[in-house]
Amino acid sequence: MCGDCMKKVIVIGGGASGLVAAINLSKKFDVTILERNSECAKKILMTGNGKCNYFNWDINIKNYYTDDYNKLETILSDKNQQRVLKFFDDIGVIPRIKNGYYYPYSNQATTIRTLLLKQIENRNIKVINNIEVESIEKVGDIFIVESHNLSFKANKVVLATGSIAGLKNVNEIGINIASNFFKVISPQPALVQLKSKETIKNCNGVRCDAILSLYIDNKLITEESGEIQITDYGISGICTLNISSIVSRSLGKNIQVKINFMNMLESNFLSWMDKRCKKLSNYNIVEVLESLINYKIIYSILKKAKIKKDYWLNMNQNEKELLKNLLFAYPLEIIGTNDFTRSQVMTGGVSLKDINPLTMESKIPNLYITGELLNVDGKCGGFNLGFAWITGMIVGDCND
Ligand SMILES: Cc1cc2nc3c(=O)[nH]c(=O)nc-3n(C[C@H](O)[C@H](O)[C@H](O)COP(=O)(O)OP(=O)(O)OC[C@H]3O[C@@H](n4cnc5c(N)ncnc54)[C@H](O)[C@@H]3O)c2cc1C
Repeated sequence: MCGDCMKKVIVIGGGASGLVAAINLSKKFDVTILERNSECAKKILMTGNGKCNYFNWDINIKNYYTDDYNKLETILSDKNQQRVLKFFDDIGVIPRIKNGYYYPYSNQATTIRTLLLKQIENRNIKVINNIEVESIEKVGDIFIVESHNLSFKANKVVLATGSIAGLKNVNEIGINIASNFFKVISPQPALVQLKSKETIKNCNGVRCDAILSLYIDNKLITEESGEIQITDYGISGICTLNISSIVSRSLGKNIQVKINFMNMLESNFLSWMDKRCKKLSNYNIVEVLESLINYKIIYSILKKAKIKKDYWLNMNQNEKELLKNLLFAYPLEIIGTNDFTRSQVMTGGVSLKDINPLTMESKIPNLYITGELLNVDGKCGGFNLGFAWITGMIVGDCND
Protein backbone atom coordinates (compact mmCIF):
# COMPACT_ATOMS: atom_id res chain seq x y z
CA MET A 1 0.00 0.00 0.00
CA CYS A 2 1.32 3.49 -0.78
CA GLY A 3 2.40 5.62 2.21
CA ASP A 4 -0.32 8.20 1.59
CA CYS A 5 -3.10 5.58 1.57
CA MET A 6 -2.01 4.02 4.84
CA LYS A 7 -3.76 4.93 8.07
CA LYS A 8 -1.70 7.14 10.34
CA VAL A 9 -0.61 6.05 13.79
CA ILE A 10 1.06 8.33 16.29
CA VAL A 11 3.07 6.72 19.06
CA ILE A 12 3.52 9.15 21.95
CA GLY A 13 6.76 8.24 23.69
CA GLY A 14 9.77 6.58 22.07
CA GLY A 15 10.70 4.39 25.03
CA ALA A 16 10.68 0.63 25.48
CA SER A 17 7.04 -0.12 24.70
CA GLY A 18 6.61 2.72 22.18
CA LEU A 19 9.51 1.53 20.03
CA VAL A 20 8.34 -2.08 19.91
CA ALA A 21 4.79 -0.91 19.14
CA ALA A 22 6.05 1.35 16.35
CA ILE A 23 8.22 -1.38 14.79
CA ASN A 24 5.33 -3.84 14.72
CA LEU A 25 2.74 -1.32 13.59
CA SER A 26 4.93 -0.15 10.72
CA LYS A 27 4.10 -3.34 8.80
CA LYS A 28 0.53 -2.05 8.31
CA PHE A 29 0.46 1.66 9.15
CA ASP A 30 2.21 4.96 8.55
CA VAL A 31 3.84 5.42 11.96
CA THR A 32 5.24 8.55 13.61
CA ILE A 33 6.87 8.60 17.04
CA LEU A 34 6.68 11.82 19.07
CA GLU A 35 9.35 11.87 21.77
CA ARG A 36 9.94 14.62 24.32
CA ASN A 37 13.67 13.91 24.72
CA SER A 38 16.32 14.76 22.17
CA GLU A 39 16.67 10.99 21.57
CA CYS A 40 14.49 7.93 21.98
CA ALA A 41 14.91 5.24 24.65
CA LYS A 42 17.15 7.18 27.01
CA LYS A 43 15.70 5.32 30.00
CA ILE A 44 16.80 1.97 28.58
CA LEU A 45 20.39 3.13 29.11
CA MET A 46 19.72 3.49 32.85
CA THR A 47 18.31 0.00 33.25
CA GLY A 48 20.01 -2.88 35.02
CA ASN A 49 22.86 -0.59 36.11
CA GLY A 50 23.63 0.08 32.46
CA LYS A 51 23.42 -3.61 31.50
CA CYS A 52 19.65 -3.71 30.79
CA ASN A 53 17.99 -6.65 32.44
CA TYR A 54 15.44 -6.85 29.63
CA PHE A 55 13.45 -10.02 30.40
CA ASN A 56 12.98 -12.88 32.84
CA TRP A 57 12.19 -16.52 32.22
CA ASP A 58 9.57 -16.39 35.01
CA ILE A 59 7.28 -13.73 33.56
CA ASN A 60 4.21 -14.62 35.56
CA ILE A 61 1.42 -12.70 37.29
CA LYS A 62 2.84 -13.59 40.72
CA ASN A 63 5.73 -11.21 40.04
CA TYR A 64 3.46 -8.24 39.34
CA TYR A 65 0.93 -5.98 40.99
CA THR A 66 -2.16 -4.85 39.05
CA ASP A 67 -5.88 -4.25 39.48
CA ASP A 68 -6.87 -6.97 36.99
CA TYR A 69 -4.92 -10.23 37.18
CA ASN A 70 -7.11 -12.00 34.61
CA LYS A 71 -6.26 -9.44 31.96
CA LEU A 72 -2.62 -9.43 33.01
CA GLU A 73 -2.50 -13.21 32.59
CA THR A 74 -3.81 -12.86 29.03
CA ILE A 75 -1.21 -10.20 28.27
CA LEU A 76 1.64 -12.26 29.73
CA SER A 77 0.70 -15.46 27.87
CA ASP A 78 3.49 -17.89 26.96
CA LYS A 79 2.82 -17.15 23.31
CA ASN A 80 3.37 -13.42 23.81
CA GLN A 81 6.56 -14.07 25.80
CA GLN A 82 7.92 -16.31 23.05
CA ARG A 83 7.09 -13.66 20.46
CA VAL A 84 9.07 -11.06 22.40
CA LEU A 85 12.07 -13.37 22.68
CA LYS A 86 11.83 -14.10 18.96
CA PHE A 87 11.58 -10.37 18.25
CA PHE A 88 14.83 -9.73 20.12
CA ASP A 89 16.48 -12.66 18.36
CA ASP A 90 15.27 -11.31 14.99
CA ILE A 91 16.66 -7.82 15.63
CA GLY A 92 20.04 -9.28 16.58
CA VAL A 93 20.10 -9.41 20.40
CA ILE A 94 22.03 -12.36 21.83
CA PRO A 95 20.91 -13.04 25.41
CA ARG A 96 23.08 -13.72 28.45
CA ILE A 97 20.84 -15.41 31.03
CA LYS A 98 21.82 -15.37 34.71
CA ASN A 99 19.47 -17.02 37.21
CA GLY A 100 16.60 -16.39 34.80
CA TYR A 101 17.49 -12.71 34.25
CA TYR A 102 18.08 -11.80 30.58
CA TYR A 103 20.78 -9.29 29.60
CA PRO A 104 22.26 -8.60 26.18
CA TYR A 105 25.38 -10.77 25.85
CA SER A 106 27.46 -7.58 25.61
CA ASN A 107 26.22 -6.61 29.09
CA GLN A 108 25.56 -3.16 27.58
CA ALA A 109 22.14 -1.50 27.60
CA THR A 110 23.25 0.41 24.50
CA THR A 111 23.05 -2.85 22.53
CA ILE A 112 19.29 -3.06 23.08
CA ARG A 113 18.76 0.59 22.32
CA THR A 114 20.93 0.61 19.18
CA LEU A 115 19.29 -2.49 17.73
CA LEU A 116 15.79 -1.11 18.37
CA LEU A 117 16.70 2.21 16.75
CA LYS A 118 18.20 0.34 13.78
CA GLN A 119 14.78 -1.22 13.18
CA ILE A 120 13.08 2.17 13.45
CA GLU A 121 15.47 3.46 10.79
CA ASN A 122 15.12 0.39 8.55
CA ARG A 123 11.36 0.67 8.51
CA ASN A 124 11.22 4.37 7.71
CA ILE A 125 9.33 5.16 10.87
CA LYS A 126 9.25 8.91 11.39
CA VAL A 127 10.70 10.06 14.71
CA ILE A 128 10.18 13.62 15.89
CA ASN A 129 12.25 14.39 18.96
CA ASN A 130 11.98 17.31 21.39
CA ILE A 131 8.18 17.28 21.23
CA GLU A 132 6.27 17.06 24.46
CA VAL A 133 2.69 16.10 23.74
CA GLU A 134 0.33 18.06 25.95
CA SER A 135 -3.10 16.85 24.92
CA ILE A 136 -5.08 14.44 22.80
CA GLU A 137 -8.55 15.15 21.54
CA LYS A 138 -10.82 12.86 19.53
CA VAL A 139 -12.91 14.61 16.90
CA GLY A 140 -15.11 12.08 15.15
CA ASP A 141 -12.79 9.24 14.16
CA ILE A 142 -9.67 11.39 14.12
CA PHE A 143 -7.28 12.11 16.97
CA ILE A 144 -5.73 15.56 17.29
CA VAL A 145 -2.43 15.30 19.14
CA GLU A 146 -1.03 18.62 20.34
CA SER A 147 2.21 19.91 21.77
CA HIS A 148 2.70 23.56 22.66
CA ASN A 149 3.15 24.73 19.07
CA LEU A 150 2.42 21.74 16.83
CA SER A 151 -0.63 19.67 16.04
CA PHE A 152 -0.82 16.21 14.42
CA LYS A 153 -3.73 14.15 13.10
CA ALA A 154 -3.93 10.39 13.40
CA ASN A 155 -6.35 7.49 12.96
CA LYS A 156 -4.81 5.65 15.89
CA VAL A 157 -2.77 6.77 18.89
CA VAL A 158 -0.53 4.71 21.15
CA LEU A 159 0.05 6.35 24.52
CA ALA A 160 3.44 5.01 25.64
CA THR A 161 4.67 7.78 27.91
CA GLY A 162 5.91 5.53 30.74
CA SER A 163 6.42 7.16 34.11
CA ILE A 164 8.60 9.76 35.80
CA ALA A 165 10.38 7.11 37.87
CA GLY A 166 14.14 7.61 37.98
CA LEU A 167 13.92 11.03 36.30
CA LYS A 168 14.54 14.56 37.56
CA ASN A 169 12.69 17.72 36.53
CA VAL A 170 10.02 16.03 34.42
CA ASN A 171 6.26 16.29 34.73
CA GLU A 172 3.61 13.60 34.75
CA ILE A 173 2.05 14.77 31.53
CA GLY A 174 1.30 11.23 30.30
CA ILE A 175 -0.76 10.62 33.42
CA ASN A 176 -2.56 13.94 32.94
CA ILE A 177 -3.43 13.09 29.35
CA ALA A 178 -4.65 9.65 30.37
CA SER A 179 -6.76 10.97 33.22
CA ASN A 180 -8.86 12.94 30.72
CA PHE A 181 -10.08 9.60 29.33
CA PHE A 182 -9.65 6.97 32.03
CA LYS A 183 -9.74 6.11 35.67
CA VAL A 184 -6.14 6.59 36.77
CA ILE A 185 -4.97 4.96 39.96
CA SER A 186 -2.83 7.44 41.90
CA PRO A 187 0.81 7.08 40.78
CA GLN A 188 3.31 6.28 43.53
CA PRO A 189 7.00 5.37 43.44
CA ALA A 190 7.79 1.64 43.42
CA LEU A 191 11.01 -0.40 43.36
CA VAL A 192 12.18 2.24 45.79
CA GLN A 193 13.95 2.44 49.15
CA LEU A 194 11.94 2.52 52.40
CA LYS A 195 12.19 5.07 55.19
CA SER A 196 11.76 3.93 58.77
CA LYS A 197 10.93 5.86 61.96
CA GLU A 198 13.99 4.48 63.74
CA THR A 199 16.98 3.19 61.85
CA ILE A 200 19.46 0.42 62.56
CA LYS A 201 22.11 2.57 64.16
CA ASN A 202 25.74 2.73 62.98
CA CYS A 203 25.10 0.36 60.09
CA ASN A 204 24.74 2.79 57.19
CA GLY A 205 25.87 1.03 54.00
CA VAL A 206 25.96 -2.49 55.46
CA ARG A 207 24.68 -5.11 52.99
CA CYS A 208 23.54 -8.53 54.06
CA ASP A 209 21.21 -11.37 53.14
CA ALA A 210 17.96 -11.36 55.08
CA ILE A 211 14.30 -12.26 54.99
CA LEU A 212 11.94 -9.28 55.09
CA SER A 213 8.41 -9.81 56.38
CA LEU A 214 5.96 -7.04 55.58
CA TYR A 215 3.06 -6.42 57.97
CA ILE A 216 0.24 -4.01 57.20
CA ASP A 217 -2.01 -3.27 60.18
CA ASN A 218 -0.36 -6.22 61.97
CA LYS A 219 -1.20 -8.70 59.21
CA LEU A 220 1.61 -10.53 57.40
CA ILE A 221 1.29 -9.55 53.73
CA THR A 222 4.41 -10.92 52.08
CA GLU A 223 7.96 -12.12 52.63
CA GLU A 224 11.01 -11.54 50.45
CA SER A 225 14.45 -13.00 50.86
CA GLY A 226 17.66 -11.70 49.37
CA GLU A 227 20.04 -8.82 49.79
CA ILE A 228 19.13 -5.78 51.84
CA GLN A 229 21.17 -2.66 52.49
CA ILE A 230 20.88 -0.75 55.75
CA THR A 231 20.86 3.02 55.27
CA ASP A 232 20.75 6.09 57.49
CA TYR A 233 17.07 6.60 56.60
CA GLY A 234 15.84 2.98 56.55
CA ILE A 235 16.49 0.10 54.19
CA SER A 236 17.33 -0.50 50.55
CA GLY A 237 18.47 -3.46 48.41
CA ILE A 238 16.59 -5.66 45.94
CA CYS A 239 14.58 -7.39 48.62
CA THR A 240 13.39 -4.03 49.97
CA LEU A 241 12.56 -2.70 46.51
CA ASN A 242 10.43 -5.77 45.85
CA ILE A 243 8.08 -5.01 48.75
CA SER A 244 8.03 -1.25 48.12
CA SER A 245 5.11 -1.29 45.69
CA ILE A 246 2.81 -2.67 48.42
CA VAL A 247 4.23 -0.15 50.90
CA SER A 248 3.56 2.77 48.54
CA ARG A 249 -0.03 1.68 48.17
CA SER A 250 -0.46 1.22 51.92
CA LEU A 251 0.92 4.53 53.21
CA GLY A 252 -1.31 5.90 55.93
CA LYS A 253 -1.73 2.43 57.44
CA ASN A 254 0.42 0.87 60.15
CA ILE A 255 3.34 -0.58 58.17
CA GLN A 256 6.01 -2.70 59.77
CA VAL A 257 8.91 -4.67 58.36
CA LYS A 258 10.56 -7.41 60.39
CA ILE A 259 14.07 -8.37 59.36
CA ASN A 260 15.37 -11.89 59.88
CA PHE A 261 19.16 -11.67 59.71
CA MET A 262 19.72 -15.33 60.56
CA ASN A 263 20.01 -18.26 58.21
CA MET A 264 18.84 -20.92 60.69
CA LEU A 265 15.72 -22.13 62.45
CA GLU A 266 14.74 -19.75 65.23
CA SER A 267 13.84 -22.66 67.49
CA ASN A 268 17.41 -23.98 67.25
CA PHE A 269 19.11 -20.69 68.06
CA LEU A 270 19.40 -20.82 71.84
CA SER A 271 20.74 -24.39 71.93
CA TRP A 272 23.07 -23.63 69.01
CA MET A 273 24.46 -20.64 70.94
CA ASP A 274 24.86 -22.74 74.09
CA LYS A 275 26.92 -25.33 72.22
CA ARG A 276 28.90 -22.82 70.22
CA CYS A 277 29.77 -20.68 73.23
CA LYS A 278 30.93 -23.75 75.13
CA LYS A 279 33.19 -24.68 72.24
CA LEU A 280 34.50 -21.11 71.78
CA SER A 281 34.52 -20.39 75.48
CA ASN A 282 36.78 -17.35 75.38
CA TYR A 283 34.82 -15.68 72.50
CA ASN A 284 32.45 -12.81 73.27
CA ILE A 285 28.96 -12.67 71.71
CA VAL A 286 30.07 -10.57 68.76
CA GLU A 287 32.93 -12.93 67.99
CA VAL A 288 30.65 -15.96 68.16
CA LEU A 289 28.03 -14.45 65.85
CA GLU A 290 30.39 -12.63 63.52
CA SER A 291 30.87 -15.62 61.26
CA LEU A 292 27.12 -15.44 60.54
CA ILE A 293 26.31 -11.74 60.31
CA ASN A 294 28.06 -8.41 59.97
CA TYR A 295 29.57 -7.34 63.31
CA LYS A 296 28.08 -3.83 62.99
CA ILE A 297 24.59 -5.31 63.04
CA ILE A 298 25.41 -7.38 66.14
CA TYR A 299 26.76 -4.32 68.00
CA SER A 300 23.71 -2.32 66.97
CA ILE A 301 21.33 -5.05 68.16
CA LEU A 302 23.13 -5.47 71.49
CA LYS A 303 22.90 -1.72 72.01
CA LYS A 304 19.19 -1.61 71.11
CA ALA A 305 18.55 -4.52 73.51
CA LYS A 306 20.62 -2.72 76.16
CA ILE A 307 22.69 -5.86 76.69
CA LYS A 308 25.97 -4.83 78.25
CA LYS A 309 27.37 -8.29 78.96
CA ASP A 310 30.08 -9.55 76.67
CA TYR A 311 29.62 -13.29 77.14
CA TRP A 312 26.64 -15.53 76.44
CA LEU A 313 27.18 -17.47 79.66
CA ASN A 314 26.68 -14.27 81.67
CA MET A 315 23.43 -13.32 80.00
CA ASN A 316 20.10 -14.09 81.65
CA GLN A 317 17.24 -15.84 79.82
CA ASN A 318 15.40 -12.60 79.08
CA GLU A 319 18.47 -11.08 77.47
CA LYS A 320 19.02 -14.21 75.39
CA GLU A 321 15.40 -14.14 74.21
CA LEU A 322 15.62 -10.43 73.41
CA LEU A 323 18.79 -10.94 71.38
CA LYS A 324 17.16 -13.82 69.52
CA ASN A 325 14.04 -11.76 68.76
CA LEU A 326 16.05 -8.91 67.30
CA LEU A 327 18.22 -11.24 65.22
CA PHE A 328 15.21 -13.08 63.81
CA ALA A 329 12.60 -10.30 63.67
CA TYR A 330 14.17 -6.84 63.93
CA PRO A 331 11.17 -4.48 63.73
CA LEU A 332 11.18 -1.30 61.68
CA GLU A 333 8.18 1.01 61.50
CA ILE A 334 7.95 2.19 57.89
CA ILE A 335 6.95 5.81 57.48
CA GLY A 336 7.42 6.30 53.74
CA THR A 337 9.49 5.71 50.63
CA ASN A 338 12.04 7.75 48.76
CA ASP A 339 10.55 9.85 45.98
CA PHE A 340 10.11 9.16 42.26
CA THR A 341 13.60 10.38 41.41
CA ARG A 342 15.06 7.43 43.36
CA SER A 343 12.49 4.85 42.21
CA GLN A 344 12.68 2.53 39.22
CA VAL A 345 8.99 2.30 38.38
CA MET A 346 5.57 3.66 39.22
CA THR A 347 2.76 1.76 40.85
CA GLY A 348 -0.63 3.06 39.77
CA GLY A 349 -1.63 4.42 36.37
CA VAL A 350 -4.38 3.56 33.92
CA SER A 351 -6.56 0.73 35.19
CA LEU A 352 -6.20 -2.51 33.21
CA LYS A 353 -9.97 -2.74 33.48
CA ASP A 354 -10.15 -0.07 30.73
CA ILE A 355 -7.97 -2.14 28.36
CA ASN A 356 -8.59 -5.00 25.93
CA PRO A 357 -5.70 -7.37 26.73
CA LEU A 358 -5.76 -8.88 23.22
CA THR A 359 -4.99 -5.56 21.52
CA MET A 360 -4.08 -3.06 24.30
CA GLU A 361 -6.87 -0.90 22.87
CA SER A 362 -8.56 1.18 25.54
CA LYS A 363 -12.24 1.80 25.97
CA ILE A 364 -11.70 4.76 23.63
CA PRO A 365 -11.62 3.08 20.19
CA ASN A 366 -8.24 3.34 18.44
CA LEU A 367 -6.49 4.69 21.54
CA TYR A 368 -3.97 2.15 22.83
CA ILE A 369 -1.96 2.19 26.05
CA THR A 370 1.29 0.34 26.67
CA GLY A 371 3.99 -0.15 29.29
CA GLU A 372 4.36 1.52 32.61
CA LEU A 373 1.56 4.03 32.13
CA LEU A 374 -0.74 1.10 32.89
CA ASN A 375 -1.49 0.08 36.44
CA VAL A 376 0.95 -2.84 36.33
CA ASP A 377 4.29 -2.95 38.11
CA GLY A 378 6.68 -5.83 38.46
CA LYS A 379 9.46 -6.86 40.78
CA CYS A 380 13.15 -6.39 40.05
CA GLY A 381 14.48 -8.82 37.46
CA GLY A 382 13.40 -7.73 33.97
CA PHE A 383 9.67 -7.90 34.69
CA ASN A 384 8.93 -4.24 33.93
CA LEU A 385 10.74 -4.11 30.61
CA GLY A 386 9.25 -7.55 29.92
CA PHE A 387 5.77 -6.10 30.36
CA ALA A 388 6.64 -3.03 28.25
CA TRP A 389 7.87 -5.11 25.28
CA ILE A 390 4.92 -7.51 25.44
CA THR A 391 2.36 -4.69 25.42
CA GLY A 392 4.18 -2.96 22.56
CA MET A 393 4.17 -6.24 20.65
CA ILE A 394 0.43 -6.77 21.21
CA VAL A 395 -0.45 -3.31 19.84
CA GLY A 396 1.25 -4.31 16.61
CA ASP A 397 -1.42 -7.00 16.14
CA CYS A 398 -4.20 -4.45 15.73
CA ASN A 399 -5.96 -4.27 12.40
CA ASP A 400 -7.78 -1.49 10.68
C1 LIG B 1 17.11 3.39 37.11
C2 LIG B 1 16.15 2.42 36.46
C3 LIG B 1 16.56 1.11 36.23
C4 LIG B 1 15.67 0.19 35.68
N1 LIG B 1 16.10 -1.07 35.43
C5 LIG B 1 15.24 -1.98 34.89
C6 LIG B 1 15.69 -3.28 34.55
O1 LIG B 1 16.89 -3.62 34.66
N2 LIG B 1 14.77 -4.17 34.08
C7 LIG B 1 13.46 -3.82 33.89
O2 LIG B 1 12.67 -4.66 33.49
N3 LIG B 1 13.03 -2.57 34.14
C8 LIG B 1 13.89 -1.64 34.62
N4 LIG B 1 13.45 -0.35 34.84
C9 LIG B 1 12.05 0.00 34.48
C10 LIG B 1 11.89 0.17 32.96
O3 LIG B 1 12.89 1.03 32.48
C11 LIG B 1 10.52 0.74 32.63
O4 LIG B 1 9.52 -0.03 33.27
C12 LIG B 1 10.27 0.74 31.12
O5 LIG B 1 11.22 1.54 30.47
C13 LIG B 1 8.86 1.26 30.82
O6 LIG B 1 8.70 1.33 29.44
P1 LIG B 1 7.65 2.37 28.82
O7 LIG B 1 7.68 2.20 27.37
O8 LIG B 1 6.37 2.26 29.50
O9 LIG B 1 8.23 3.79 29.24
P2 LIG B 1 9.65 4.45 28.94
O10 LIG B 1 10.63 3.42 28.52
O11 LIG B 1 9.95 5.29 30.12
O12 LIG B 1 9.36 5.38 27.69
C14 LIG B 1 8.47 6.46 27.77
C15 LIG B 1 8.92 7.49 26.75
O13 LIG B 1 7.91 8.48 26.60
C16 LIG B 1 8.52 9.76 26.54
N5 LIG B 1 7.49 10.74 26.96
C17 LIG B 1 6.94 10.87 28.19
N6 LIG B 1 5.98 11.83 28.18
C18 LIG B 1 5.94 12.30 26.90
C19 LIG B 1 5.15 13.30 26.26
N7 LIG B 1 4.21 14.00 26.91
N8 LIG B 1 5.38 13.55 24.95
C20 LIG B 1 6.32 12.83 24.26
N9 LIG B 1 7.09 11.89 24.82
C21 LIG B 1 6.89 11.61 26.12
C22 LIG B 1 9.68 9.64 27.50
O14 LIG B 1 10.65 10.64 27.27
C23 LIG B 1 10.17 8.22 27.21
O15 LIG B 1 11.13 8.19 26.18
C24 LIG B 1 14.34 0.59 35.36
C25 LIG B 1 13.96 1.92 35.56
C26 LIG B 1 14.85 2.83 36.09
C27 LIG B 1 14.41 4.26 36.29
